[in-house]
Amino acid sequence: MRSVGRFSVLVLIVFSCVSQVLSQDSPASAAQPAADPAAPAATAPAQSAAAMPAAATTFNDVLDHVVQREHLFIAQMRHMHPMVETYVQDLKNDKAGDASPVNDRYFLGRLDMSDGPEDTSFIGQPGFGRKVVAKLTGVYSLHFLPLGFAQMVILDSDFQKKYYNFTLVRREFLGEVRCLVIDVQPKEGQKTARFMGRIWVDDQEYNIVRFNGTYYPQPKISFFFHFDSWRLNMRPGMWLPAYIYTEEANLKTGLTKSLHFKAQTRLWGYDLKALNKNEEFTQILVDSPQSVKDQSDAAADASPVVAQRMWERQAEENAVERIQKVGLFAPPGEVDKILCTVVNNLLVTNNIDLQGDVHCRILLTAPLESFTIGHTIVISRGLLDVLPDEASLAMVLAHELGHIVLGHRMDTQLAFNDKLLFPDEDSFQRLDFKRNAADEEAADTKALELLKNSPYKDRLGNAGLFLKALQQKAPDLPNLIRPHLGNSLAAGKSIRMSTLLASAPELDQKRLDQIAALPLGGRIKVDPWTDQAELSKAKPVALTSAREKMEFEITPVFPYLTRLSSGADKVALTSAPAATTQASTPEKK
Ligand SMILES: [Zn+2]
Repeated sequence: MRSVGRFSVLVLIVFSCVSQVLSQDSPASAAQPAADPAAPAATAPAQSAAAMPAAATTFNDVLDHVVQREHLFIAQMRHMHPMVETYVQDLKNDKAGDASPVNDRYFLGRLDMSDGPEDTSFIGQPGFGRKVVAKLTGVYSLHFLPLGFAQMVILDSDFQKKYYNFTLVRREFLGEVRCLVIDVQPKEGQKTARFMGRIWVDDQEYNIVRFNGTYYPQPKISFFFHFDSWRLNMRPGMWLPAYIYTEEANLKTGLTKSLHFKAQTRLWGYDLKALNKNEEFTQILVDSPQSVKDQSDAAADASPVVAQRMWERQAEENAVERIQKVGLFAPPGEVDKILCTVVNNLLVTNNIDLQGDVHCRILLTAPLESFTIGHTIVISRGLLDVLPDEASLAMVLAHELGHIVLGHRMDTQLAFNDKLLFPDEDSFQRLDFKRNAADEEAADTKALELLKNSPYKDRLGNAGLFLKALQQKAPDLPNLIRPHLGNSLAAGKSIRMSTLLASAPELDQKRLDQIAALPLGGRIKVDPWTDQAELSKAKPVALTSAREKMEFEITPVFPYLTRLSSGADKVALTSAPAATTQASTPEKK
């Protein structure tokens, strides 16, 4: 089987340290799903992605179209290099039989499915790839590999009618998209592992928009996971992988070991070219010559203080731009504005007039973290997801604002452009926005002061409750709570803003009206093509049991599928109304 060679993931960062991944005693290790779809149809149809196939009249016609579209999909994916993030939570049943996370793993990389000599090599931490591949040949050890999860974006890289039996089940809507639901089973007697399960095919262009199942037959020495893989309509005629949910319970991996976990894989950053565009240039072009002249007159020579500020600003802008280019920041958007409203609430009620605006940006990854780059407050998608309410959000933002108000410095070396010239996969090694313990403590103290004068002052109990839940779960979720670029929210016994713990009510798992933290994935939706973040439109639901709280947990994914209107150069996900926020701007006192 040469499946490993088919997909390569440039490992940007592996949070589970290398030794952990490689450890043979790793309690919940797993296979690389070695679907060995042989060489794909080398020549993809030269048909344009947007071209609409003729309406199929028979089921056989439908299948011809589906196979053709899938080959086109694979040809397209060879040119795509999206970010891939897999977050795994190992589960254990409690006495009542409810499963909860006891450990976690995290992978972040960039998918590369192009054929070529670099297919088998991993780039990232030195020697990482080679070690993993070498270990895999030591057959009886099984490991979680980012590769294994990334592979589930593909149904079968040599998808042919002759290999499978197809059964039409029904028609069904997934969101707005009417689909044909088809059961797919590999024909008997094949040596190559192939997809077995169910596919959903849109009934206009016959693209596979979802597939759910596993690969069959299971290899003797490793396993194929079960997966539910979703694609979104990102460009006209182009449905690309966005989410994969994986779950296994009691998958026997040896005489005594068994696997029990759930995992979510997300893909984004498909349109990296657009992220790299220089927007400043177009802005200069639209300025009238007069206004350009006026500005330059006003600027004149900078005073030493202004020069220092400009220098810091330059370092900040360099860093922000660099991180966005890698595909780790969402471009400026609606959610940033909501965050800025909360920041503004804090500033206005404290009568603070900062020289220069505060900006907010979203780090697109799951691990919970927030930090500042100069006057830019960064908060991760995962942290935004799990924060239960606006007061908790205000708490996180207040800490970062504390750094800004106190004038804590950033690394101004980043104002030198050569400092930004490094490979994407080194981003987390080369950029570091950690603060020392004294600055952290000072920011906490300042944050409390800001919060006590703010509209959130009476709701800080909720924020404290969130911290309590975080503290309780931290030992079981080390990779979710480990920051990439900033300081940890909870490390050992210390927790950020710990003063708020005292004012929080008792944590009570059984109380349905007490929501200390939300599951991951509930609040922020990321457009995988543009990286634009928006608020999820999912309506809050009443919980029927405490089991449904799923604080900090991953869950299955059911995106509401929409079809791009033909010719529209727009993204699949329409923008969410910002009205869902309860942020209000109080009058200045
Ligand atoms: Zn801090």
